[in-house]
Amino acid sequence: MQRLHQAQLFKQLALISKFLAEIPLQLEHSVMNLRVAISTNFQVGNFGTVARLIQVIAELVVNARIQLPEQALLEEMLEVCNNYECQDKCLPVGDFSGALCYSTMRLIPGKIFRYCPFCTATFHPELHQACCFCNTVLMLNQ
Ligand SMILES: [Zn+2]
Repeated sequence: MQRLHQAQLFKQLALISKFLAEIPLQLEHSVMNLRVAISTNFQVGNFGTVARLIQVIAELVVNARIQLPEQALLEEMLEVCNNYECQDKCLPVGDFSGALCYSTMRLIPGKIFRYCPFCTATFHPELHQACCFCNTVLMLNQ
């Protein structure tokens, strides 16, 4: 029972890290978030997500003209992802907008969500009228 709970928590961590990796930040912070997201999603078998995040980190470092020490490891991970046809094993299925509520850290059900035009944070449409982080009035995505 304890192990099952830990597995669920790790899947939730992988999901949250995937969203954190997509937040626009300074280069070093983005690279750090992407590393965590790649590692956790690889461990739960989200190979499509990992392949996409490896592409994002590769583009970031090429544009910034820096080299990652784990470049060879990322290439090996990408090969594994391709062997599994880049399929995600642990992403929630159902009617989700694909956005994460930044106040509850849960996927937003349905297609409608609110977003902050200043910091791009997304929220469940019924929870907030203003951004929890910068207090900007939220917009609806439709
Ligand atoms: Zn905001």
